[in-house]
Amino acid sequence: MHIVVCIKQVPDSAQIRVHPVTNTIMRQGVPTIINPYDLFALEEAMRIRDEIGGSVTVLTMGPPMAEDSLRKALTFGADRAVLLTDRAFAGSDTLATSFALAQAIGKCAAEWGPVDLVFCGKQTIDGDTAQVGPGIASRLELNQFTYVSKVVEVDVAGRSLTVHRRAEGGVQVLQTALPALVTMLEGTNEIRRGSIQSALTAAAAKITVWSAAEAGITELTACGLKGSPTVVKKVFAPTARSEKAAKIASLGRPASDVAAELIATIFAAAPALEADLANADHRTYEELIP
Ligand SMILES: Cc1cc2nc3c(=O)[nH]c(=O)nc-3n(C[C@H](O)[C@H](O)[C@H](O)COP(=O)(O)OP(=O)(O)OC[C@H]3O[C@@H](n4cnc5c(N)ncnc54)[C@H](O)[C@@H]3O)c2cc1C
Repeated sequence: MHIVVCIKQVPDSAQIRVHPVTNTIMRQGVPTIINPYDLFALEEAMRIRDEIGGSVTVLTMGPPMAEDSLRKALTFGADRAVLLTDRAFAGSDTLATSFALAQAIGKCAAEWGPVDLVFCGKQTIDGDTAQVGPGIASRLELNQFTYVSKVVEVDVAGRSLTVHRRAEGGVQVLQTALPALVTMLEGTNEIRRGSIQSALTAAAAKITVWSAAEAGITELTACGLKGSPTVVKKVFAPTARSEKAAKIASLGRPASDVAAELIATIFAAAPALEADLANADHRTYEELIP
């Protein structure tokens, strides 16, 4: 079983600020981390490998400093790491990113054997689009499961994958044929801690670094800015709203009084809401659907 896990190095969003004058993101001095969702993907991949054998390749597209995240993934227990880095990838939007990653996954297959499973995080905490996983799947024509909360079974002999997928109002149990791509939700497992020994081994490990050409990418017009039809027009920090939150005292008062004051306060702040509710259809479900 060869599993590729796509991880992205992202700025620690808790420490990001937007420049008040230029409205650009201030990245200087902001520490980077592995996108948190990708850690759940990595742990799930390693759990499968530990159960049924095989290897886990971690792959990232990014600047040379993204190597730090790959070493961290090796510390956690990934078997090999690939950094896809080239000036040709600068300015990539999700279309160009998924193109480059899909090509690199093809190259991983050529180097280390056919890829049975690709794992991604559900989304990143910086770009936040959740488009890259599905983009890779469609380019590689892989069956895809998004919003996966649990991998229930990988049946190697039957070449199938069964997962739990979080859906609105419940959980879907889905099965598909391998090869497939999964995007993992948060909180689905607990990432193992690497030992000091594994950190030392990872620090000295060889990271495979591929340029576009080394990854076998010849279609450079599909990469970077050239391959990116979307444009970020503006980034800005929302201005703080001037109105203050209303405080409603509740201590020692009957709940009905507090509720009445709460509703009066809401209607005073949003009179249109009161009119909307007054005009609403108040028939019960049974009256509407006899
Ligand atoms: C017009 C435009 C220009 C941009 N220019 C730049 C730029 O110059 N520099 C820049 O840093 N960003 C740039 N971006 C942002 C860049 O497009 C996104 O960071 C990137 O495409 C990934 O999208 P996302 O973060 O929304 O990932 P999502 O789709 O939310 O990620 C889902 C999952 O895909 C995987 N994944 C995503 N990105 C990577 C990656 N790079 N390597 C491995 N796995 C990955 C991870 O598993 C992740 O959890 C630009 C975006 C646009 C629209």
